[in-house]
Amino acid sequence: MDCLFCKFINKEIPTEIIMENDYFMAFKDINPKAPIHVLIIPKKHFADISDMDGEILAKFPEFVRNLCDKLGVTDTGYRIITNKGKDAGQIIFHVHFHLLAGNDLGDLI
Ligand code: AMP
Ligand code: ZN
Repeated sequence: MDCLFCKFINKEIPTEIIMENDYFMAFKDINPKAPIHVLIIPKKHFADISDMDGEILAKFPEFVRNLCDKLGVTDTGYRIITNKGKDAGQIIFHVHFHLLAGNDLGDLI
C-alpha cells in the first residue's frame, strides 16, 4: 500500500522517531503548530479513528504516558487531536494523533 506513514513504520523512509513500541510510533510533525508537535500512529494501518481496532486503541494511554514522560510534559499538560475526513481537514489517511504541548495551547477546544 502506498502510505507515507506505513513507510515510516517500515523504515523505508527516515523520520525523526521519538518513541516506539510494538503497537505505536511517535515522530515529529514536519510543520509544527506548537513548540512540541508529535504525531502518534498505530503500526497497523487504519484510515482514521473510526476504522481503528479497539484492542490496539486500548494500548494508547500507556504509550501516551511514556511518551509524555519522555517529552517532559506530563505535569505541564498537552492536547491530543485526531482529524477524520474532509471537514476536519484530514490529509493523511493513516490514522494519527497530534500531540501538542510546550506552551499555553489556547482555548479553541
Ligand atoms: P491531518 O491529516 O490534517 O491530521 O495532518 C497531517 C499532518 O501530517 C500535518 O500536521 C502535517 O504537517 C504532517 N506531515 C505531513 N507529512 C509529514 C512528514 N513527511 N513528516 C512528518 N509529518 C508530516
Ligand atoms: Zn499506513
